[in-house]
Amino acid sequence: MERTIRVLHLEDDPGDAALISHKLAVEGLAWDIVHVGDKAHFEAALARESFDLVICDYNLPGYDGLTAIKRAQEQQPDVPVIVISGTVGEEMAVECLHQGATDYLLKDRLERLAPAVQRALQEATERRSRREAEQRLRESEERYRLSMDLTPDAILIVDRIGRIQLLNVATERLFGYQRAELLGRPVETLIPTRYHQVHERHRHAYDQAAQVRFMGAGPDLFGLRRDGTEVPVEVSLGPFEFADERLVICVVRDITARRQLEAQFRQAQKMQSVGQLAGGIAHDFNNLLTIINGTTELAQAQVPAGDPVWEDLQEIRRAGERAAALTRQLLAFSRKQIQQLQVIDLNTVVTEMEKMLRRLIGEDIDLVFVPTQDLGAVKVDPGQIEQVIANLAVNARDAMPRGGKLTIETHNVEIDESYARQRGVAASPGPYVILAMSDTGVGIDEVTRGQIFEPFFTTKDPGKGTGLGLSTVYGIVKQSNGLIWVYSEVGKGTTFKIYLPRAAERADAQRRSPTVSPGRGTETILIVEDVNGLRLLATRILQAAGYTVLTAVSAEEAFLSLTNYKDPVHLMVTDIVMPGMSGPNLAKGLRRTRPEMKVIYMSGYTDDAVVRHGVLDDSMPFVSKPFSTADLIRKVREVLDSQG
Ligand code: ADP
Ligand code: MG
Repeated sequence: MERTIRVLHLEDDPGDAALISHKLAVEGLAWDIVHVGDKAHFEAALARESFDLVICDYNLPGYDGLTAIKRAQEQQPDVPVIVISGTVGEEMAVECLHQGATDYLLKDRLERLAPAVQRALQEATERRSRREAEQRLRESEERYRLSMDLTPDAILIVDRIGRIQLLNVATERLFGYQRAELLGRPVETLIPTRYHQVHERHRHAYDQAAQVRFMGAGPDLFGLRRDGTEVPVEVSLGPFEFADERLVICVVRDITARRQLEAQFRQAQKMQSVGQLAGGIAHDFNNLLTIINGTTELAQAQVPAGDPVWEDLQEIRRAGERAAALTRQLLAFSRKQIQQLQVIDLNTVVTEMEKMLRRLIGEDIDLVFVPTQDLGAVKVDPGQIEQVIANLAVNARDAMPRGGKLTIETHNVEIDESYARQRGVAASPGPYVILAMSDTGVGIDEVTRGQIFEPFFTTKDPGKGTGLGLSTVYGIVKQSNGLIWVYSEVGKGTTFKIYLPRAAERADAQRRSPTVSPGRGTETILIVEDVNGLRLLATRILQAAGYTVLTAVSAEEAFLSLTNYKDPVHLMVTDIVMPGMSGPNLAKGLRRTRPEMKVIYMSGYTDDAVVRHGVLDDSMPFVSKPFSTADLIRKVREVLDSQG
């Protein structure tokens, strides 16, 4: 294909210029020749447009061929330059070629012009394509280097005798080395010493039968960092040949995050099964303790105070109450405590508790409360949250035997996916409220930290700790759809952060506190309870308080006895979980025939059936088992006296 060849011709003699143009023209190519007569025009033309060829006269007034060659090459590096001169001068010619001129011609031998131009153009074309190829190669290498370095996995190339030949940025980052420190070093540098022998054997075996291999599924692999710490990794290998050399490419992936999640998952499963066990036991204990404690109380009422029997009974009651407290904690841990939810402001809860907390932690520990203004409300069981705060405060106190500072803070926070991932917790995204409690105590080391939420785990002397404080906290937080996060530095202190989902509603203006009501009455009460001892106990308590009591062992029996009973029944006290129909369903079924009758629910235990009915809200009167005589009598009077 014919194309126009653009020539810049520097020549001050118009005659010579015409002659040279003529010589070119006869060559039969298409030419586009720009004539310039001096330095200024020459340099301007070079700066303005690109040429395929520069021809220049050597002898010009105020300009010489050498400078012209230099300018041309500066401006257009690939352009061939042919110097034409009237005088013979071998030295001058050599100098010009040295400076990069393609050719040097004499004015009286212009028949050489055509072949010289042809050669110059061809060379220029070759030079250009070589340069382009080099550029492409450079770009492709750059692309490879970039993709290596942008890969999150560490990539190393290792030779047959295990020396590192190449590595990417992720390798530097993962192992904490600079590239130069690793190049040429044995790959064992990056492997903990205890694995060196095994690795050596494997490397030999691999060299004998090299193939693409994934090693992550095997035993746990670890990398050794420059600072001596280890990192769990997954490794895959691929052999390849390069320049007659057998090499292996190793891809090393940091699996710290995955291991953490696995550990958390295992931990959660363990907690779940322990919780189930604890919850099951606690349920039975609850009923037994209610009977033991209640009957003891009734028995006490029949002997005069001061009587040795009364003292013995008192001893039984004290032990029974301690057992009841433990049972409550177990229930909280197994998330089987019935929640009485209220929308509350945590700042108010903490403020109301401040005095009690100060007494709890003693004078040597400063209590600092830093509430966030405009704190979002949370929907929780206020009693449970008080328990959480008290448990954490007691632990903080125990961690600061020589005094210190306990700081309680509240914050609003938005959890998004990255926030949750960073902390390795499975929280659904959304707005949360944080309650943070920090002490300046002894701290918790990493191994211990893995166990603190387990029930009965304690580092305290026998008799000092039950190991149930944090498991209770854990259970309550989980049951409240929150999460708990612990940060600790040994010798510095510990922070527990509790995240609770922010409630859409505003906090109830005032928390309902139980009103003190007189204990006695004459109304008629139906008790529905399948556990004989409990039913009997409740009957005795209420009869002793003056009430008329009907009883039923099941919902079915309750329907029956109400049908036969023609007088008003003012109140039904019913268990929630019973064989057959549940308490709430019984109440629903009776609403039509006995619209006036009020209901109190009784339970110590939420199983799935109850959870499916939804937690009780504050408007549903409730007595938790184990209950005391006073609990029951107070609640009964309160509900009977309530409006609506
Ligand atoms: P207990 O207090 O009865 O030992 P917990 O479940 O409340 O049981 O706590 C379990 C363990 O967690 C404690 O024995 C202690 O080792 C550790 N721990 C809890 N809170 C702190 C804290 N604030 N500082 C240091 N260690 C703590
Ligand atoms: Mg404790």
